[in-house]
Amino acid sequence: MTNNNASKNCSFCGQTHSITSPLIVGNDGHICEDCVQLAWQVVNSWGRKKQLKQMLGSQPLPPPIQIKKLLDDYVIGQNEAKITLSIAVYNHYKRLGFSTEQDTLKQSCDQVEVEKSNILLLGPSGTGKTLLAKTLARIVGVPFTIADATTLTQAGYVGDDVEHVIHRLVDAAEGDIRRAEWGIVYIDEIDKLARSSEGPQPVRDVSGEGVQQALLKLVEGTHVKLAKKNQPRETAETETVDTTNILFLVGGAFSGLEKRIEKRLLPEKHSIGFSARIMPAEGISKENLLLQTRADDLRSHGLIPEFIGRFPVITALHELDAEALVRILKEPRNALTKQYASLFAYDNVELEFTDEALHTIAYKALEYGTGARGLRGVMEGLLKSLMYELPSRSDVDRCVVEKAAVEGTCKITLELRTTEVNPATDEEYGNTQADADRNFGIC
Ligand code: ADP
Repeated sequence: MTNNNASKNCSFCGQTHSITSPLIVGNDGHICEDCVQLAWQVVNSWGRKKQLKQMLGSQPLPPPIQIKKLLDDYVIGQNEAKITLSIAVYNHYKRLGFSTEQDTLKQSCDQVEVEKSNILLLGPSGTGKTLLAKTLARIVGVPFTIADATTLTQAGYVGDDVEHVIHRLVDAAEGDIRRAEWGIVYIDEIDKLARSSEGPQPVRDVSGEGVQQALLKLVEGTHVKLAKKNQPRETAETETVDTTNILFLVGGAFSGLEKRIEKRLLPEKHSIGFSARIMPAEGISKENLLLQTRADDLRSHGLIPEFIGRFPVITALHELDAEALVRILKEPRNALTKQYASLFAYDNVELEFTDEALHTIAYKALEYGTGARGLRGVMEGLLKSLMYELPSRSDVDRCVVEKAAVEGTCKITLELRTTEVNPATDEEYGNTQADADRNFGIC
């Protein structure tokens, strides 16, 4: 190396050497600090490109229409949210994939940086917010984790530090930091972080706002230091996770937000009461009100402007009616009726539900007011005694659940085999046809 570089230029960008812009001298050329940094970014992107390829497999990222179709296999209804999410997730990973393709210094200099679009999901409990986030992560093939905002605290307080969320994402990526850096995080109950003075029902004190503040950096992109696993805490080496490319989805019920939006959309004297399902004048159904959410509505609900600003994509899920619940029972790939049918099939028993029974289950679940979440409770209660007894019996061929059984006025119909599969077992548990009739009744 030589010190005599006073009249030299950077061999990459042409910058002239000066006291404020020193050049590193090589055998045949020079390089300035800016180009060293760009070169580092480019080299780093090669690793990321390889990583993204490995994660997405040989298949290219499905376009939004395809993502929506895949979501349809698991999530019933919620079309508006599915379309918005398909676009946002496609753009997010497209942007990451594209940025890794900027291999040359020249391209990197000209590159327009597309900012990431974190997503805010609004909608009542049990309408599919978590399911959507989870299914998206599965479609794209990236690590995924869920956190509950109510358990998060500012650093130094008792509870889960916000950085703990990243810990969990790394766990979901089986310790692979590079994979975790492309993952998806879903934070539920975000509305419970409302600033107490502005939320409709104050749930948390100032710490709610404190957690919002603490999440800002994480969501925007920061370096989180994590202690390596299986090492004593005091002496553990640390590794750094860059959260810049992690996609954050947050969700909450935001109860009462519709009223606020209704007030904004309709002048006071034209409002026809929130209990009305349709507002004919404007043609806005109650379900669609949340889709009209604006940043100022969220601010008056207790989210701080900086936090809202980091979630440019907002979409809403609507309450599920009985028809939707019946579809949820039957249609998704892992629909509850299919799950229970598989469980029964392990014992060589068919399980069937009549359409009327499914409707009655749906109406019962609606009474719980927890959306589709109520379905599992109803099903468990309904099938509990069968799940207890059937594994010990070999004479039952088919179970048919009818409306009366769901209503509790009659028992589930059992159809018995004509030939005994295992008489010894039958005898042991005393499962004769008479027993079957006694235990479950034949309607
Ligand atoms: P949320 O996050 O909105 O409170 P979840 O996504 O956790 O609700 O839904 C709870 C359960 O209800 C899910 O595991 C899923 O089985 C079912 N579920 C909710 N909404 C739907 C939907 N739209 N389509 C299919 N299943 C749903």
